[in-house]
Amino acid sequence: MLAEDRVRADTPGCASGAEPGPVFLDSAGSSLPPRVVLDTVVDHLRREAEVGGYRAANERLDDLAAVKSAIGTLINAAPSSIALSDSATRAWADFFYSIPLAEGDRILVSEADYASNAIAALQRARATGATVEKIPSDSTGQLDLDALSALVDERVKLVSVLHAPTNGGLVNPAAEATRIARSVGALVLLDACQSTGQLPIDVAELDVDALSATGRKWLRGPRGTGFLYVRPELAATMEPARLDLHSAEWTAPDEYRLAPDASRFEFWECDVAARLGLGAAVRYLLELGPANVYEAISARAEHLRKALPEIPGVTVRDIGVQHSGIVSFTVDGVDSLAVRDRLAEQNITVTVSRAGSTLLDMTGRGLQSVVRASPHCFVSFEELDRFVAAIAAL
Ligand SMILES: *Cc1c(COP(=O)(O)O)cnc(C)c1O
Repeated sequence: MLAEDRVRADTPGCASGAEPGPVFLDSAGSSLPPRVVLDTVVDHLRREAEVGGYRAANERLDDLAAVKSAIGTLINAAPSSIALSDSATRAWADFFYSIPLAEGDRILVSEADYASNAIAALQRARATGATVEKIPSDSTGQLDLDALSALVDERVKLVSVLHAPTNGGLVNPAAEATRIARSVGALVLLDACQSTGQLPIDVAELDVDALSATGRKWLRGPRGTGFLYVRPELAATMEPARLDLHSAEWTAPDEYRLAPDASRFEFWECDVAARLGLGAAVRYLLELGPANVYEAISARAEHLRKALPEIPGVTVRDIGVQHSGIVSFTVDGVDSLAVRDRLAEQNITVTVSRAGSTLLDMTGRGLQSVVRASPHCFVSFEELDRFVAAIAAL
C-alpha cells in the first residue's frame, strides 16, 4: 500500500494554497515532481553558478553514474545498456536512424503509434526506398497479434511496438508482439514513454531490442530528460548514425573507436542538473515501491472509468483489454479544448490529445480530439470526485 499522505506531502504541487485547490490530471503530459527532484535540480544549478559547470559536475560523478543504475533497477537492465537522452523522441530516433535500411526493406508501425515515430519512419522510407506499413488492431483495439504474424517476413527490419499510447488507456501486448517480430529477425523498438513509471517494465521479460522513455511523464522527472535502453549485444556492435567525442574516441588521425556500450548513443553535452533530477525521480519511485505506485495509479484511473460514463453525454474512449492510467473521453456538444479550458478555471488540469499525435488510431475511429485525464498516485480520490463533478456540471 502506498502512503498517500506521504506522497502528497512530498509533492509541492499538491499544496492547496490556492482556493479551490489544484486537481492535477496530466501526468501523461508533464507530471508534478516530488520535492527531492526539484531540490536536486535547483541545488545543482546553484552549484554551477558558484563554481562553474565542469567542477559542479565533477563533484557529482557518483550520483551521475547512479542515474543509470537506478533506471537499470527499474527496468531490469544493466546500467551499461542505457543511454541517457533529453527526450523519448530523441532516444527513439537515436536508435531508429542507426538501423541500416535499403530498398525493399519493411518497417512496421503500431496503429497507436506516436506521430514523431511515424514521421521518422516515413522520412527514412523516402530516403531509402523502404516501406512503412501499419500493424492492424484487433476487435478490442489492441495490436493484432495474428495480423502481425501474417505480416512479418525477413524483409521486416524494424517493428515499432507502441506500449501505451498518448491518447488513451490502451496497453498493447508488447512481449507477445516482440516474440513474433524477433522470430523473423526483425528488430523491436518499444515506445515505453507512457508506460515507464506506471506499469511494470522488465526488458529481459519483454525481450525488446531497444526501448525509449521520457523523464517528465510518469517518472515525475524534470523536462528535457529521457533514456534509451539497447540490448547489450547491439549496444556493443551497432554504429550510431551520429557520433561525438563521448560516443566515440578519436584514436588516430583517421581512426575512431566507438564507446563499448550504450553510451555510444549519447552526446557529451547534457543538462547535468536535469540528469541528476531524473536520477532522484527514479530513486524516489524505487523507494516508494514501484508496485505500490502502479497499483495506486490504476485504482485512480479505474475510479474515473467507472464514474465518467455515468455522466450523460460523456464517452470514455479507451480501447484494448488491459488499461493504463490514461483515461480519455469526449463530451457530447462540448469541444475538447473548451472542456480543458473550463476545467482550468476551476484549477483542474487535463490536456487534449488531437488526431495528429496518433493519426492512424484517431482517424480510424473518426475522432478529432479527446480529453485526457491521467492521475498519478499523488491525486486524492476526493480530487478525482471534484473533477467528475466539474465534468457533470458542464
Ligand atoms: C510523449 C510521448 C512521446 C514523446 O516523448 P518526448 O519526451 O516528448 O519526446 C513518445 N511516445 C509517446 C507514446 C508519448 O506519449
